[in-house]
Amino acid sequence: MLEDSFRHKGLRKNLIKEIMNKGIKNERVLNAINKVPRHLFMDTGFINFAYKDQAFPIGEGQTISQPYTVAFQTELLDVNKHMKVLEVGTGSGYQAAVLVELGARVYTIERQRKLFVKTQMLLNTLGYKLKFFYGDGFKGQKTYAPFDRILITAAAPEIPEELLSQLRPGGKLVIPLGGSDIQEMLLIEKTGKESYTNSKHGKFSFVPMLKGTSNSNDTKK
Ligand code: SAH
Repeated sequence: MLEDSFRHKGLRKNLIKEIMNKGIKNERVLNAINKVPRHLFMDTGFINFAYKDQAFPIGEGQTISQPYTVAFQTELLDVNKHMKVLEVGTGSGYQAAVLVELGARVYTIERQRKLFVKTQMLLNTLGYKLKFFYGDGFKGQKTYAPFDRILITAAAPEIPEELLSQLRPGGKLVIPLGGSDIQEMLLIEKTGKESYTNSKHGKFSFVPMLKGTSNSNDTKK
């Protein structure tokens, strides 16, 4: 059932070409994406579309990000082997798997209990080694801080102060910033204990980053 066939591998190669054409250059990022069987991270109804460069529903009103967006954020994050990386918004686990393939030590937080349980099981079955947390990503993971890199994969209405404080000096944080349908991709570099530089990297569209945790479906409120 959890098969990665020649057909899937072939489709993945085409996807890599497509995201290269859209501007992704980093070889290590492209290789990591080429290794992750995205079809295994999708809801059964969408498996046949797994290698389309699009976001798809994964239940609980959430989505698996578009591969180009995953590649873009990962490239911007600039991850090296053994770095400690915190991801906010585990979702399907696809982005987390890409970070593991890059050799990072990955810590990922999800606020939706169902997704947290389901994704943890899937990644364990697939043999990806990382740490999962059920909680509110606005609070980060103090116990394991500081992190070399922090990646936010939901639309953040503001820059979470707590996450900045959990970033190592010299570290980088990538965040889609904005409360509406469209966000600006921001790269924040921590240059000193309390000094930062920001750069903007274009418009994207994510599901919202929400406060607190949830046991149910936020879209049905
Ligand atoms: N990285 C994911 C993208 C999932 S979409 C992937 O590769 O599939 C964003 C996810 O962020 C959703 O699962 C949503 O439930 C989660 N999320 C939203 N706000 C959050 C918060 N405050 N803390 C943790 N997770 C959050």
